[in-house]
Amino acid sequence: MRCPYCQAQDTRVVDSRLAREGDQVRRRRECGQCGERFTTFESAELLMPRMVKQDGTREPFDEDKLRTGMLRALEKRPVDTDRIEAAVHRIVRNIRAQGEREIPTQDLGHWVMEELRELDKVAFVRFASVYRSFEDVSAFREVIEGLEETPPSSSD
Ligand SMILES: [Zn+2]
Repeated sequence: MRCPYCQAQDTRVVDSRLAREGDQVRRRRECGQCGERFTTFESAELLMPRMVKQDGTREPFDEDKLRTGMLRALEKRPVDTDRIEAAVHRIVRNIRAQGEREIPTQDLGHWVMEELRELDKVAFVRFASVYRSFEDVSAFREVIEGLEETPPSSSD
């Protein structure tokens, strides 16, 4: 691999470890010419299914969009970035595990809600209120009722 600093071809791997629960290899490389170090990530390329929206239109799955949506719901909530990343990763893996060429966006929304419910109830309610999933109205109500019963926490 070419050095991104000086373009020399002569770079070597100085460290290699698994990342993202073993789905990715993270390598530290060092340039034999200028001595700079840089990181590369290697992962298997798998075709992701397309998302089918409720109006029937299709769009490619967009991991960044998924992450952005979840981060918006989790804004100013006390949740570790690592836990959010792990949740995003689980959802992506779930999508792949379906082995389908197309997946309804409702399914995706459902998985996001399941993850948010585990991560943070407020984020779950925020997301659910935007998402307006009728299937999840009962789960939604459960959480709202749960929130009302919970005494205000002092950590907030
Ligand atoms: Zn270099």
